[in-house]
Amino acid sequence: MLSPLFRAHGLLVASHPWEVIVGTITLTICMLSMNMFTGNDQICGWNLDCPKTEEEILSSDIIILTITRCIAIVYIYFQFQNLRQLGSKYILGIAGLFTIFSSFVFSTVVIHFFDKELTGLNEALPFFLLLIDLSKACTLAKFALSSNSQDEVRENIGTGMAVLGPTFTLDALVECLLIGVGTMSGVKQLEIMCGFGCMSVLANYFVFMTFFPACVSLVLELSRESQEGHPIWQLSDFSRVMEEEDNKPNPVTQRVKMIMSLGLVMVHAHSRWISKPLSSSTTGSNAQLGMELDQLSPRRIEPEMPLWHFYLSRMITMDIEQVICLALALLLAVKYIFFEQVEMESTLSLRNPITMVAPSQNQQYKICCIREPSAPRSAAPAAPCREERDEVIRPFPAPTMAYQSKSLFVIGEEDGEMKYDNTEPSLLQNPRGLDECVSIFNNPEQGPYHLSDAEVMLLVTSKHIPAYKLETLMEKPERGVAIRRQMISAKLSCPSALSSLPYINYDYSKVMGTCCENVIGYIPVPVGVAGPLHLDGKQFQVPMATTEGCLVASTNRGCRAIAVSGGASSCILADGMTRGPVVRLPSACKAAEVKAWLESPDGFQDITEVFDNSSRFARLQKLLVGLAGRNLYIRFQCRTGDAMGMNMISKGTEKALSRLQQHFPELQVVAVSGNYCTDKKPAAINWIEGRGKSTVCEATISAEVVQEVLKTTTEALIEVNISKNLVGSAMAGSIGGFNAHAANLVAAIYIACGQDPAQSVSSSNCITLMEPSGPTGKDLYISCTMPSIEVGTVGGGTNLPPQQACLKMLGVQGASQQYPGENACQLARIVCATVLAGELSLLSALAAGHLVKSHMTHNRSKVDLHGTQGTCSRRGSMQTERS
Ligand code: NAP
Repeated sequence: MLSPLFRAHGLLVASHPWEVIVGTITLTICMLSMNMFTGNDQICGWNLDCPKTEEEILSSDIIILTITRCIAIVYIYFQFQNLRQLGSKYILGIAGLFTIFSSFVFSTVVIHFFDKELTGLNEALPFFLLLIDLSKACTLAKFALSSNSQDEVRENIGTGMAVLGPTFTLDALVECLLIGVGTMSGVKQLEIMCGFGCMSVLANYFVFMTFFPACVSLVLELSRESQEGHPIWQLSDFSRVMEEEDNKPNPVTQRVKMIMSLGLVMVHAHSRWISKPLSSSTTGSNAQLGMELDQLSPRRIEPEMPLWHFYLSRMITMDIEQVICLALALLLAVKYIFFEQVEMESTLSLRNPITMVAPSQNQQYKICCIREPSAPRSAAPAAPCREERDEVIRPFPAPTMAYQSKSLFVIGEEDGEMKYDNTEPSLLQNPRGLDECVSIFNNPEQGPYHLSDAEVMLLVTSKHIPAYKLETLMEKPERGVAIRRQMISAKLSCPSALSSLPYINYDYSKVMGTCCENVIGYIPVPVGVAGPLHLDGKQFQVPMATTEGCLVASTNRGCRAIAVSGGASSCILADGMTRGPVVRLPSACKAAEVKAWLESPDGFQDITEVFDNSSRFARLQKLLVGLAGRNLYIRFQCRTGDAMGMNMISKGTEKALSRLQQHFPELQVVAVSGNYCTDKKPAAINWIEGRGKSTVCEATISAEVVQEVLKTTTEALIEVNISKNLVGSAMAGSIGGFNAHAANLVAAIYIACGQDPAQSVSSSNCITLMEPSGPTGKDLYISCTMPSIEVGTVGGGTNLPPQQACLKMLGVQGASQQYPGENACQLARIVCATVLAGELSLLSALAAGHLVKSHMTHNRSKVDLHGTQGTCSRRGSMQTERS
């Protein structure tokens, strides 16, 4: 509700940073001066001996205080460590320091302003530090850093304020009220400390709402553009901050906080206004109180030495607990500055961490290239990487020294295979000059390993590296993929779009030249298992890759029904992959002459010879020749062993056509595929003639199983099958679609087992038949006939390890050792039997009227999909907002 107000406030502050900063500082100074005017320039421990200092302090108190101080120091240290992980730690470090410093100064001033003595500030300081939470400030900074321009900085600060402001305000209120309870405790020290706590919360809030966003906006404005024209602070992975649900306050927590603060307000009101007269009436005589106060009032110290000497000696003289705290703070500061801050000097430099294996080592190193943002773009040699001047964090192994000295340095070490950081790296590194990069790339002793990602991208954009060859030309394919992702991300309206598309830990060597080009990652699809599938006396656990809830569960039920009924049986009716080129002759009569020759025994023999010589496994079975005018369509049908065979048969067809051209020189090959095959399109020819493995599978399900497992009756099932699969499909003019959902099973198994998913088009051709069976006619006979199952267990996607794992589950991975083609045929039988199981279960669900109910239970996301819409693109959503 208050978001628009906070947004407007954020915009105002970010648009007028100078005014806000100067105003804040002026206000602070004013308050200090007012404090001077009040004459209260007394500071306990400095020029005053306060009663407390004379009190005997218990050693246990000292220990507790020291521990608290140490915890506060460590807490602040960790906060800064977190800041550094944001990638642009320097600017956030400054922002963090501003927050802490200004909060402290402000609280001190406020305390002065309210004319309170500062006794106890020493003890309160650790608690003050513990109350500082930089996370909100960091998140706001991330909003600003995700911008592409100064205008966007302002807008994003406004957006950040709109998101964070209400929560922060409520948090500050609750904290204040909660800590404020301590001020009513009656224990003086606790009251003082809680007073400080409240002040510091308020100070934090004030600084967060004014000084901090103004500073962030100003710093970003002053360090605006890099040489490439990009804002140098912009970090693409920050753009995700706008999408993160974490930034949105949890409404339940918000409500609890509101109720809590209301309760606390009542407590405060009760104790301060209602109970006050009572408590004041119970205090002793005023005279006695005055005496006590006199005793407690501070005494001015009159030093017997020069004032500077006096102050210096007070500063140097430290108690043991102060020494401990100071030593800890120094230690952590040294660790942070010298051992962790790899980009200490770089104000707004960018980080692009990748993890690579050093060539001669089994160890892995996180490598980071950081360059001066201000370096001239075309400078040759280009600006050196930071490590050329900074301390090297870890000595790089000797063989890669050159690498280290050129562009990369080590910031960490990990086990296992090569890994890249999954963040989308920025493009904003300054590469060395083009000529130098080209010579490094072409130098056999150096190569791409010695180039940073930015430099490789430079080579790609200057056409020295073909973009499609990235994974082949890099020292590791994965690096090529990572670089392509960076280049693609920069072109997307949602630059973080690829962040959820995985790409690491994948064996791209198996993909290259076989399965996919221009790779940017891989899609994980859930794989379920249905089974055991009892088929031909064997049992199979069938892997199914799908995102359709219910499918695996339903198939599983079908498998159970088959299993308890004695299993299913299957047959391969034909095995022949097809390719149907189109050739053209000068006339229809000439085409008819060619047709006749191909259909003659001599012609067929001649073509077969050439065809079969093209592969160890391709064996031509049949030629089906169709004629349309002077176009001739020749459907080559051949066995392909364990391969699905499309490449194999295409190769053989090309050779055969060359031979045909030798016999008929006027024959012109129009296309090696004339859609007479027919591949990946619905076509009656596959349904009628068959393609790949023509398979049939059958089973008899007893009446009890139909009743108990499938929750229906044989009559109902047969009725649905006829009305839906036969008549319904006929009414729809279907070709090969006389089934309930064969494609569901085919596609799920194909994806899991590395088959060509597009071939689920004709592979799903299926007619499901059901009849009454058994002596009483109450049992169910079911068969699925699938004339065109196009599968293989070698070649294509079956070469990929995860897909091979699924084929291994079925015992059909690779080439059959005994009889070429046996594995592929077995796979076709499994596909057909799984389809039968799926048909049984789905038709039963339809017959029993359970379909919709089970899909609502297993196939509906419980996530609020509406709420997740449109969170992909920060830029996109802003454009929408603007429009
Ligand atoms: P392939 O990998 O191109 O060929 C199979 C290879 O495996 C051949 O080199 C074959 O030897 C060898 N092989 C070894 N043992 C074998 C055995 N027992 N049985 C059969 N071959 C064996 O695979 P493909 O099935 O022909 O083609 C599949 C790919 O084609 C898939 O990626 C698919 O997506 C794609 N595809 C292509 C087209 C197209 O028009 N070209 C159309 C659709 C799909 P030989 O060298 O002796 O034959």
